[in-house]
Amino acid sequence: MKAIQVHKHGGIDVLQLEEVSDLQPAEGQVLVCVKAAGINPVDTYIRAGTNNYTADFPHTPGKDSAGIVAAVGTGVTRVKAGDRVYCAGTLSGASAEQTLCNEAQVHPLPDKFSFEQGACMGVPYTTAWRALFIRAHALAAETVLVHGASGGVGLAAVQLARAAGLTVIGTASTEAGRELILNNGAHHTLDHSDPDHLQQAIELTAGKGVNLILEMLANVNLGQDLPALSHGGRVVIIGSRGPVEINPRDTMARDAAILGMALANTTGPERERIHASLVAGLESGTLNPVVNKSFHIAQLGLAHEAVLEPGACGNIVITV
Ligand code: NAP
Repeated sequence: MKAIQVHKHGGIDVLQLEEVSDLQPAEGQVLVCVKAAGINPVDTYIRAGTNNYTADFPHTPGKDSAGIVAAVGTGVTRVKAGDRVYCAGTLSGASAEQTLCNEAQVHPLPDKFSFEQGACMGVPYTTAWRALFIRAHALAAETVLVHGASGGVGLAAVQLARAAGLTVIGTASTEAGRELILNNGAHHTLDHSDPDHLQQAIELTAGKGVNLILEMLANVNLGQDLPALSHGGRVVIIGSRGPVEINPRDTMARDAAILGMALANTTGPERERIHASLVAGLESGTLNPVVNKSFHIAQLGLAHEAVLEPGACGNIVITV
């Protein structure tokens, strides 16, 4: 089979499409014939060896994919050969014609969704769900500011929060991004490149402040986020690309909390809850992954560049 192979950290030129041995599922494993793979910013950090990420070589990039089950190992009961699935995580890498997963990483993909859409489910939706419901304990009737709502995680958070009965404010730097956020369930949109946008968020809550902020770029925003929180407000740090200065007093009078969130800390029982909810959301139609750009696997480098470009409007995927 063909797979992207990375033999050393570097730029997009280290992504090589090579012929490698076919994979075989061991006990408890599922072999998936990959039709599409999702590209996330973390894939580029691992390829480049930045932000404290590293890899074992040869490395096949990508955590998320969707396709058809080709074979299952002994003991696997949740899926069978021929099933359409999305894979949230992989043992062997997603940018390949085949990917090997643990049974717990494979979930049913309803017929009405394309494989490209299925490939957007893993990192973006798992992150958004864990941030909203496990770290921040989001409740219906609260107001959430999704700070960076036009990308993969942000749009997932908008859809999940709207379905859970929150009032949703989403930000994007472009008109197209803000229109997309509205079309995906946000009640209000703001422009995070406008220096006054957090004051506008407070005004949207009649001066009370927002209950939750999901923060995609904490190194830029955290200092200004804290004064925009309500009493008991919580900000979840999902993305940050450097240090930031805050005034701790901004948390005190509000009893506010700053919560870190790393997808890698997701426990087995959390994963069960998250994907039971996500599959139900796909079946009921409250979730609808947004594909912005699709590239062929041979152009994975272009996909790695696209996921870091400003002006996000949904997810970047490759087809295989
Ligand atoms: P993405 O698809 O590239 O989207 C990035 C988002 O950030 C876009 O909505 C972008 O909006 C927005 N943004 C850009 N500048 C901003 C600013 N100054 N203030 C607020 N938002 C801003 O990336 P993603 O997949 O959604 O991931 C978002 C971040 O979370 C990345 O840094 C990623 O590495 C991180 N992440 C962390 C975890 C974890 O476990 N903690 C898991 C997944 C992702 P515009 O393009 O419109 O400016």
